[in-house]
Order: sequence, then C-alpha cells, then structure tokens
Amino acid sequence: MDFGTPLSALTGIGSIIAQRLHKLGLKTVGDLIQHYPFRYDDFSQSATITETKIGNTVTLKGELWGIKNTYTRFRKVLTQATFNDGTGTVEIVWFNQPWLIKNLRAGDKIQVSGKVTRKGSKVTLVSPVWEKLIFSNQPEITKNNTLHTGRLVPVYPETYGLQSKWIRQQIARLLPQVLAKSSDPIPAHITKGLISKSDAIDKIHFPGGWQDVRLAKDRLAFEELFYIQLSALKKKQDWVKEKKAQPLNIDRAKLEKVIKHLPFELTAAQKKVVEEIIADLKKDRPMNRLLQGDVGSGKTVVAAIISYLNYLNNQRAILMAPTEILAFQHYQTFVDLLAPYGISVGIYTGSRKFTKSNESNPDIIIGTHALLSKKLELDSIGLVIIDEQQRFGVEQRGMLRNRASAPHFLTMTATPIPRTVMLTLYGDLDLSIIDKLPRGRKLVKTHFVPSSKRADAYKFMEERVRVGQQIYIITPLIEKSETLVSAKAAKVEHERLKKDIFPNLRLGLLHGRLKSKEKESAVNAFKNHEIDILVSTSVVEVGVDVPNATIMVIEGAERFGLAQLHQLRGRVGRGELQSYALLFTEEEVPAAVNRLKHLETIHDGLKLAELDLKIRGGGELFGLRQSGQWELKIASFSDLPLIEKTREAARKILAESPALDKYPKLAAKLVGLDDVMPD
Ligand code: ADP
Ligand code: MG
Repeated sequence: MDFGTPLSALTGIGSIIAQRLHKLGLKTVGDLIQHYPFRYDDFSQSATITETKIGNTVTLKGELWGIKNTYTRFRKVLTQATFNDGTGTVEIVWFNQPWLIKNLRAGDKIQVSGKVTRKGSKVTLVSPVWEKLIFSNQPEITKNNTLHTGRLVPVYPETYGLQSKWIRQQIARLLPQVLAKSSDPIPAHITKGLISKSDAIDKIHFPGGWQDVRLAKDRLAFEELFYIQLSALKKKQDWVKEKKAQPLNIDRAKLEKVIKHLPFELTAAQKKVVEEIIADLKKDRPMNRLLQGDVGSGKTVVAAIISYLNYLNNQRAILMAPTEILAFQHYQTFVDLLAPYGISVGIYTGSRKFTKSNESNPDIIIGTHALLSKKLELDSIGLVIIDEQQRFGVEQRGMLRNRASAPHFLTMTATPIPRTVMLTLYGDLDLSIIDKLPRGRKLVKTHFVPSSKRADAYKFMEERVRVGQQIYIITPLIEKSETLVSAKAAKVEHERLKKDIFPNLRLGLLHGRLKSKEKESAVNAFKNHEIDILVSTSVVEVGVDVPNATIMVIEGAERFGLAQLHQLRGRVGRGELQSYALLFTEEEVPAAVNRLKHLETIHDGLKLAELDLKIRGGGELFGLRQSGQWELKIASFSDLPLIEKTREAARKILAESPALDKYPKLAAKLVGLDDVMPD
C-alpha cells in the first residue's frame, strides 16, 4: 500500500463509505493522509476525579460501574453511567445515543474527555468523548495509547456519515504503513531547519503538543508554496530559454512625437510602464508581461503606443478584447491615435471584419475571440495583446499567442492582484502596474445604503438625472458566469424601476443574453445620452467608457468581492463631476455590511484585493472556490516571508538543475499555473 492506493481497495471500506469519502474529495490513501485537521480538541489535561474542578475540560481514566438508558418526558433517550477512577465517582450522561449500551458495559476500563459540570449535587460529565482502554496490540492506538481522548485530538472536515472519529481511526491505522514507505521529493538541504515530511504528516494528525502542530504546519506550508514557486520559476525559465523573439528597434524621436500629440499628457505611471515594456521589446526573448491598472487608469493608450513601436519595426500587432463593444471602442481609440501616422487599423469580430475591404492585412488588428478563427491568416505578428485577460480561458490565450511563433506578449487586467499572489501563482510573469489614475479624477464617494434609505437613494438618483447626469444600475451576479437567471434578474429590475420608481426617466437594459447588435445599441444609446439609466448585469461590457455617468448602483453587493466592486465603481468618476457608488444588499448580515463598508474608506484596488484575500481567502479571490485547486491547505497567500523563502529555495534548485533532471521527483510535482484566473 502507498499514497496511490485507492481507498476503496482497503478492507473495511465498502462502496457506501467510498462514496462518502469521495464527497470529501478523498480517493486515494494519499488523499486521506493529506486530509489535515482544521482544528484540535485539547484533551491533554489528565486528572483524577478528586482533582477536577467544575468548568475544566479534563481527561479521566477509570472503570464504568454501571450504564443504562432512560427516557425523558419528551421521549428523548438519555444514557446514564457511573464512572470511578479509584479516587472518586462521577456521573456521565450522553444524549440520543441509545446504542452506547451495546458498546459499553459495567466493568469496562475507559478513558473519557470532556467538560466537568455539576448537576444538582452530582459532578457530571455531559457527552464526553470516550474510548476503551484495551492494552492489546491494537494498531490504531498511538504512542500515548489513545486516539480520541487524553491528547490533542484532531478534528477533520466531515461529511454526512463520516465523522472525525472514524477518519481519525483510519488515518491512525494507515499512517505507520504509508509513512514507512514514503520519501520526500524535496532534497534535505532545501528543507534545513524544518522537520521531515513524514514526521510532519505524523505530527499534523497526532501531535504530542502544540509545539508539534506548529512544526508540522511550518513544514507542510513550506512544501505547498515551494511547489508553486518551483512551477512558476521553471515556466519562466523555460520561456526565456526556448523562445527567441525579434528584438525591436526603438525610434525615440517618433515615440516622443506620438506621445506629444496625445489629447492628454501621459501620467508618470503610464510613462514608467511604457519604459518597462520597451526594455522587454529590446531583448531577443519574447516579452511575457502582465499590465495591471485600475479601471480608468489608461491601459489602452499604453497598448496603442507599443503597437506603434512594433509597427515601426514592420511587425503586425493584434489585440483581443472580450466583447465586440470593447473591441470597437479600442478600434476607435487606435484609429484616432494612430491613423494620422499612416497606420492601418482593422477590426475583426463576429459581425465585423476589416473595414477597408481592399486591405486584407492591416498593421494593427483589433478584435474579439473571432481572431482565433483559422480563416484569418496573418503573418509577421510581432506583438500580441490581450485586454481584460481574465475574461479569456487558458486555451484562448494560448491560441492567440500561438498565432505567431514567438511574439512579444502583453496581457492587461484591471483586477488588482496582491503582491503575494503575484509572487506565487503569477510568478512566471513580469508585472507592470499603473498605480495612479490620470490627474483630475475625483474619488468615487461610496455609500452602503441600508434598505431603510433606499427611497432616499432613488430620490437622489432622480435629481442627478434631472441635472443631466447618467446612472448605471448593476444587478447581482447570480453565479460566477452570466446565466439566464442573472439576465432575468436584470430584466425584472428594469421593469420594476420603469414602472414603479422612474416612470418619467429613460431606462435601458443590457445583459449577456442579448444579441450582440442589441447590446451594442443599448451601450450606444447610453453613450449618446439617449437613455438616463442603464440597468445591466455585471459581467457585460466591463470596459465601456461614459464620462457623463456619475452614479454606479450595485444591487446585491454582498455577492461581489471587494476588488470586483471597486472595478465596477471605476466605471464612474471619469469626468469633472463628483461621482457616487451606492451599494445595496439583499440581506443586511452584519459581517457582509462590515465588509462592504471598507469600500467607503478604501479607494486603492490593491488594498481591497488584499483585504478580500484576508476576509474571504484565496479560493474566493480566484473565483475557483468550487474547484478548490488553489485553496491552500495550510499555507496562506498572504504569508509574504514564507512566499519569499520558498521562492528563494525554488531558485536555488533551478540553479543547481535547470531541467530538474537531478531531481526527477520534484519534476513530477510541478503544477500547471495556466488556469489561474482572478475574477
Ligand atoms: P483602462 O485602464 O480601464 O482600460 P482606458 O484606457 O479605457 O482605461 O482609459 C480610460 C479613460 O482615461 C479614457 O477615456 C482615456 O482616454 C483616458 N485617459 C487615459 N490616459 C489618460 C491620461 N494620462 N490623462 C487623462 N486621461 C487619460
Ligand atoms: Mg480597458
């Protein structure tokens, strides 16, 4: 038997139990062994009955003098026992476990752990954990001879029909056999100062004390992050080694000229980012860079500038955006900025192909996932840009990149990614951040609105519209991706508002189930101020730019992550006018309200993402809660010192053996980081 043995192959585990184990995600012996406790019951204090104090949690060792079932007036079963340890006698009661009298008899030597209380004049233990003391060669009895009492007792994530007690017993039974055969893929010089892997697994389940728990966690957390780091750095190293790109010549004079003729001055942050990208483009290996910047920070113009530099080297650029509307918006921006320099810009989406029909291959092509179509034949692609990269799957991103043999590759996102996460899951990418918004932008005043103030909020909104401003109303995200249900929610809300709340205003509706022409006309109507209020689901048209919109209302705000809400409110606050975000909830749960209130005071996307990480954990952050893949078991994505330490360790290993041929077992541990996508 080893880590890979299926649990269903073990004696005592039939199909029903196997199914239940499956529910916990446990299929192999290794899975079970690595099903770690989420807490411990501290039953380590032993005492004699005479020493016990009311209120203490103790472990007593002694003999059952009698046990019987009685029935209460309400027909509940009460199991009552008398227990003596040689120094005195206590009563024990258990509720609703009538079968106990079949397992426990007078004369049995047992150990019990529980809280000491007083019932009338009698010292009593209510529902203590118990186990028989049989001094035979029972394999599951651990070092201190007990498993469920008299020690730090591990408590596991459970499921219906699988209690911690059973899980504990199985793990205790399997551990010695499995650990005897296990070896550690990580070489010892890397884990210096930490306990061994098998020791750590043993101690995490059956610690001798709290110090053991700490040692075990240190070791296991190290390993968890180390494998991620090794995977990320290996990927980066291979990328650099394998692919050669065409180094670009940078024509500074022309660059300056384009920048000077922009309708605005670039922010210092934009200039810095352009320089970081230029440094990459000058190298003979392809750039692989993520450009992160809050909504409205001006990523598009950066993309246009580097597309221009690429064009000056006789290379083509392609830019993929997640929706037709965004693609078209970018197309117009690029045409405005670059057409004066004689550059041809084309659009390629489901409903629109290149505009100039005689020009089959424009210098810059902007489109949607239609760009992935084989029908589109392109050569000399030197630069690939993906906007709102989190909206595309791994495959789509890979496919676009593969349109050219070794293009410089830039992905852009408004999702703030905490530094610690950047250093782990995104460890293979280089990062540029636009950390300041263009000057003159006002902070979006943000308010959580309790339901009692909803009517006032509507009045306020109506006043804003009366003076010529516009409003977005976002209806809740029902699930991770847009569904029929979310579309319906938007429709229903649109109807309600039109009929009951704003009968005299012009309302529009936008959701992902509309045809692309319908979507476009809704967005255009909003852009052209033919409608006052746009009721929309959250996932559509993340990038639309309407400076006259000054209020962002978000319904069901508790369903969103803080960073997501921050991105939504970034839709307003584009112009001179003071803008507002109003957060409504469906249920006013204090924890949810407190979380939302952070948005009233914090206007830094990165800080909010980090808060999210703390409050809701990694799984939530990455919208991968269901898959659980990036749910760290022990380590934390906010543990910067450990992240740095493991990164250093991974570097060391790769310096010793870049292809990992010296460490085949480590090579087998590499994980794919491609499917990591923040939401
Ligand atoms: P995002 O980073 O969200 O993609 P955009 O590129 O769409 O942001 O830019 C948002 C708006 O800010 C656009 O209207 C753009 O013209 C404007 N903008 C970009 N850079 C600057 C700047 N340096 N100064 C003023 N306005 C800018
Ligand atoms: Mg954008």
